[in-house]
Amino acid sequence: MGVCLCEFESRSGHQTDRGSTAATEQTGPVRGPCLAVWPMSDTARRIRTTYRTLHDSFGGQDWWPSESPFETVIGAVLTQFTSWRNAEIAIANLRRRDALTPPGLAALGGEELEELVRPSGFFRQKARTLRSLLDTLGRFEGGLTEMLELSTPRLRSELLATRGIGPETADAILLYAAGRPTFVVDAYTRRFACRHGLIGTRASYDEVQSIFLGALPADVEILGELHALLVRLGKEYCRPEPRCAECPLRDDLPAGGPLEASGVGGADAVN
Ligand code: SF4
Repeated sequence: MGVCLCEFESRSGHQTDRGSTAATEQTGPVRGPCLAVWPMSDTARRIRTTYRTLHDSFGGQDWWPSESPFETVIGAVLTQFTSWRNAEIAIANLRRRDALTPPGLAALGGEELEELVRPSGFFRQKARTLRSLLDTLGRFEGGLTEMLELSTPRLRSELLATRGIGPETADAILLYAAGRPTFVVDAYTRRFACRHGLIGTRASYDEVQSIFLGALPADVEILGELHALLVRLGKEYCRPEPRCAECPLRDDLPAGGPLEASGVGGADAVN
């Protein structure tokens, strides 16, 4: 189903334009200022409207599809530079070999692992990354469970220190496997945000992330949902050749139409 931002706003009380929630003790409907009229920057307001519009148009996206946190971590690596459909084939291969657990994955030989993840593309690189992840996990006596309980900055830094994991993959793991309220900046988000003038083409990963985090509640479901909605937007409408006439976000376009987004790429994944 996903979370409607209006429902979140009404159940959490009011919120500042920097996203810090002033939760109330109330359990029923909250009286007081509605976020729709709460002072916030124009960019933040447009990002919230984007969430609502996409959620109304597409519905909840039910991400991340996986049976365990470890599978989510593996999926975050396998979907780098490719579509989720290709990553799914590789995940199914690993599942058939009982390799969606750390011991199961570690038991695979190098060539066999490469062969199993081949459908996701860049298979040698991804097999190497999965091995590096196992090395990282091996430093924690309690394995993935212990690692996912680290503080957010420490966990992010452990992930980024793992060969083959960049900010986009690290944040996908933080958000969908560890349940931390962060935002994943991918090529789809950048393309849409550039075309709408929300960011510049040269904005850094951290800058884009900070703009989105500043506009939304620090809520894992909403942040995860927005990323999923933007992926769907990028696949169906905001493609390399945009389909603005039919797009649910056409009312938010700048007066002259979409702005230049050439040269916009993802951090460590291209979808
Ligand atoms: S209106 Fe056009 S530029 Fe904007 S998100 Fe839709 S397809 Fe992309």
